[in-house]
Amino acid sequence: MDRFDPATIGVRSGHFIGGSYVDDDLGPRIEVARPSDGVLYASVPVADAATIDRAVQNAWAAWRTSGWARIAPRERARVLRRFADLVAADVETLAPLEALGSTRPIRDAFNWDVPFTAEGIRFYAEFADKVGGDVAATDHDHLGMTIAEPYGVVAAIAPWNFPLVMASWKIAPALAAGNAVVLKPSEMTPFSVLRLAELAVEAGVPPGIFNVVQGDGRTTGDALVRHPRIAKVTFTGSTRTGAAIMAACAETGTKPVTLELGGKSPQIVFADAPRIDDVARRIAGAITTNAGQVCVAGSRLLVERSIADELAARIQRIFGELKAGATWTPGTTLPPIISEPQAARIEAIVERSVASGAVLRCGGHRADASGPGAFYTPTLLTHVTPQTDAVRDEIFGPVLTLQTFDTEDEALELAAHPDYGLAAGVHTADLGRALRMVRGIEAGTVWVNRYGRTSDFMIPTGGYKRSGLGKDLGRQAYEANLRFKSVLIDVRV
Ligand code: NAD
Repeated sequence: MDRFDPATIGVRSGHFIGGSYVDDDLGPRIEVARPSDGVLYASVPVADAATIDRAVQNAWAAWRTSGWARIAPRERARVLRRFADLVAADVETLAPLEALGSTRPIRDAFNWDVPFTAEGIRFYAEFADKVGGDVAATDHDHLGMTIAEPYGVVAAIAPWNFPLVMASWKIAPALAAGNAVVLKPSEMTPFSVLRLAELAVEAGVPPGIFNVVQGDGRTTGDALVRHPRIAKVTFTGSTRTGAAIMAACAETGTKPVTLELGGKSPQIVFADAPRIDDVARRIAGAITTNAGQVCVAGSRLLVERSIADELAARIQRIFGELKAGATWTPGTTLPPIISEPQAARIEAIVERSVASGAVLRCGGHRADASGPGAFYTPTLLTHVTPQTDAVRDEIFGPVLTLQTFDTEDEALELAAHPDYGLAAGVHTADLGRALRMVRGIEAGTVWVNRYGRTSDFMIPTGGYKRSGLGKDLGRQAYEANLRFKSVLIDVRV
């Protein structure tokens, strides 16, 4: 699928609690805009503490009575595999729904976001009957065990940049481990996950085990993480919100948290990197995919001085090939910025950076997409320092800064960010050098001669420093949704 008519896409709104839609809040509502053209196309209620209580109590009751945590794990896996199949089969509905309200071009939503969401659910379904507890090595008078048990009700809070995929990384391991989930999507992209919840029920997930609540962060998100029946919180979003959530979790029950937060990831290119054209494409792609609205966007290019000009020229050429357009238009390779305030923020950071001495090699202004919507031109800034705003702040837009180095030590020094440590790229033909960089970089993920994940869900993702706590994906995310009970049995006669 490479296009659709936005006027033909209907959305269902409201919360999804106990297996059905609920929309009886009398309080304020949030009008939701399409990023591609700014048109307000639907609204969502803002769940207050009372609605959150209703959702969480419902989830708790379902968790206690539905048998989800107690059925044979293999049966739970079978239900979740069916859920994954239904998601994959629903691509013609889900992909336009995702593209309509987010920054995901329809071709990507169809070929990647929806299949990847389904595959993530399937991946965790496979864990359900593979990971249990452990038997400890004890003397023969005792039997020592650890039993893996679900927490109960898990709160999941998701961002707007990949609404379905980010939500699936939260809900799939939580459900597979036998928990109930209350998911709060971003108020900017609230609709596609509702379809996910419908499909879960259709697949046989008991009503009340997977719920969706709508609303903003301050009222809804905060009430959710503070609810006394929430036993664990898993969050993806900004570092500032992550810190607030961690504080709320500490204040209301020392709840365990998984935090996937912001980044300012370096791309380190040595002069010996093979195939400079490929490297240029990789670097350009890592900052323009989803218009740079990616947590692991490779936003800081660090390049060995001798090839800096040549690489910059190639990146600039690739930037020029990108086509700004609505998510429903064929051929769009530069999608919109999620909102006007976010586009204005990008503009302001670039302006401040230029005012402090940075030089615009290209971009630095809004892109013309022949229509409304907030689009920003891929931008390359040179003559920056570690203090330049564009080098320091997570921009969440297609803005790349370029710094040069002469030695490995210098590259490592520039790569180190005072706050973030989410991901990094190293591009070199020298294996020893690559490994020295891998060891030297403080980041949760380092990609060598590539940038971005493959579809190997076993490789976890997560940040060092203020980029996060714990992991999504991999075995780690499954285990983070379990608590481990130690049992010691005296077997002496
Ligand atoms: P955000 O922090 O503004 O919002 C994320 C979610 O948190 C939303 O659902 C929001 O409503 C909710 N929220 C806001 N305040 C809250 C509060 N006080 N209590 C509870 N919930 C609250 O982030 P965003 O703008 O939606 O997403 C962009 C950010 O997400 C970027 O910083 C990006 O790097 C990060 N991100 C990280 C990863 C990762 O894997 N590390 C992945 C995607 C996005």
